[in-house]
Amino acid sequence: MSLRSFLEQVEEKGEVLRVKDAVSTNFEIAYVMKSFDENGPVLIFENVEDFETQIVANVCGTRRRICEALNISQEQLYRRLLEAWRSPKKPKIVDDGPVKEVVEEPDLLKIPILTHFEKDAGPYITAAVVHAKSLDGTIENVSVHRMQVLDEKHLAIRLVPRHLYRLWNMAKEAETDLDIAISIGVHPAVMLAAASSPPFGVCEFDVANALLNDQLRLVRCKYVDAYAPADAELVLEGRISASKEVPEGPFVDITETYDVQRKQPVVEIVNVMHREDYIYQALLPSGAEHRLLMGLPFEAAIYEAVSKVVPKVCAVNLSMGGSGWLHAIISIEKQLDGDAKNAILAAFAAHPSLKHAVVVDSDINVYDLTEVEWAIATRFQVSEDLIVIENVRGSTLDSSADQETGLTSKMGIDATRPLSKPKEKFERARIPSSKRVEELVKKLRNRSV
Ligand code: MN
Repeated sequence: MSLRSFLEQVEEKGEVLRVKDAVSTNFEIAYVMKSFDENGPVLIFENVEDFETQIVANVCGTRRRICEALNISQEQLYRRLLEAWRSPKKPKIVDDGPVKEVVEEPDLLKIPILTHFEKDAGPYITAAVVHAKSLDGTIENVSVHRMQVLDEKHLAIRLVPRHLYRLWNMAKEAETDLDIAISIGVHPAVMLAAASSPPFGVCEFDVANALLNDQLRLVRCKYVDAYAPADAELVLEGRISASKEVPEGPFVDITETYDVQRKQPVVEIVNVMHREDYIYQALLPSGAEHRLLMGLPFEAAIYEAVSKVVPKVCAVNLSMGGSGWLHAIISIEKQLDGDAKNAILAAFAAHPSLKHAVVVDSDINVYDLTEVEWAIATRFQVSEDLIVIENVRGSTLDSSADQETGLTSKMGIDATRPLSKPKEKFERARIPSSKRVEELVKKLRNRSV
């Protein structure tokens, strides 16, 4: 249950593109990643200029791959996630694992960490899961953070005021640094669990272990009191300083715009462990992978919340155009007119950053934006079916929201057909098919590619 075993699995299916030509960590790899972004293959860069190490990217780049990693169908994904949040399971702690093959003095400059965008502050680690514990050991947390390289032994870590930030504040009050394990190159289930946000106190490694049917194994770090997956590719042991802060950023976030520079704490790296031939994992900020990992847990939360107010939720899509974060398209089966508006309100409550929600009937494919637009064109009346909520808490990642207060305006669109009018008026006309014509089309398609 490692990144490697998963890579073997997808390579057999022909989903890996190996790049043998020389490419630089400075923009070039990010450029290739961007060029193969949506629905793209896993990329393995075998020839990284100035480094011995290979780089893997776009691992969780499609919904299908994430579901393959969890060994489930797309329809099962939300239930599986919700189940794992509810019944986390402690992974076994083992003494040894592949990640301990090499233990060495830290030198971050020897790791092929990417510089992604033109105005980025510099190279950043983007696909790492960070484990930490409260000082009394009762609370554990795993989360994903961007980390800017400062020198051979130091990183600046962006702590959004969530769980790790809280643990860091608890350590700060006790005037001590916070031990962390930074794991890079982990199984997609670990990435997905760490990107989700179960309540404070639930350890995301336990969630990952539930997703992996109790197959996750952890090792204790050598110098810090923190844990890492035993079969991770690379682990940086470090301490988040209680007192040292530096300007962090600017850096591109999920919306593909630059996040502002802020004072953020410094991490001192005290030890490095890795596999002999470790692969460095990279993730393109604002790429499909970033959006899926951040968005999927909220799709599950929206699915659950909306399920409580309408008879059936068919699908949820935090669409790529909405940065996988700000736009939701939800298909439902409604019982009464007005159900869709309750669905909109439930979605906003389940995902506070959500800005625009569109609710459609179950005959609309939420992943096909032409169909969604068609539903808005033919089933939506702005005077009756629009909800606007002003001055509500949203996301500061949205450049148009008030950057100080986070206040924004939200819009919900009920694009379901009104039950008071004849159904036939709203149905898409279909052309009858026959076996013969279906075979013919298949043949013509094959010929045209
Ligand atoms: Mn957490």
